[in-house]
Amino acid sequence: MDDCIFCKIIKGEIPSEKLYEDELMIIIKDIAPKAKIHFLAIPKKHFKYFSDMTEQDAVMLGRCIKKVGTLAPSLGLEGGFRFVVNQGDDAIQTVPHLHMHLLGGQKLAETDFNK
Ligand code: 5GP
Ligand code: ZN
Repeated sequence: MDDCIFCKIIKGEIPSEKLYEDELMIIIKDIAPKAKIHFLAIPKKHFKYFSDMTEQDAVMLGRCIKKVGTLAPSLGLEGGFRFVVNQGDDAIQTVPHLHMHLLGGQKLAETDFNK
């Protein structure tokens, strides 16, 4: 998507603090962290909603999630992390490219969400 900020970050057209990249996703620091550690795991394929996913996308996203679990300790999230995906207006999704928030590096309150 030409006007998608995350597609531009993936293409390197907008700078980001990148922690990880493979053929399926990147993991970057969120520009406005809501916790001591706040990363975004962003699949390289552009789609907005889970409901947009093909069966192939489901396999791809499963691989991304598995990789997040494997990488978490090396990213400073060895104590655990909260995994948030905002979908649509009620969740105040602001970037229309599906992404996973990883929040941690501190003891989170039950009520600590992305917003
Ligand atoms: P959403 O509200 O769509 O779930 O999350 C979008 C997230 O992207 C927000 O936490 C916001 O701070 C982050 N974000 C927006 N623009 C940029 C950017 O240009 N760079 C980075 N690293 N994060 C961004
Ligand atoms: Zn995109």
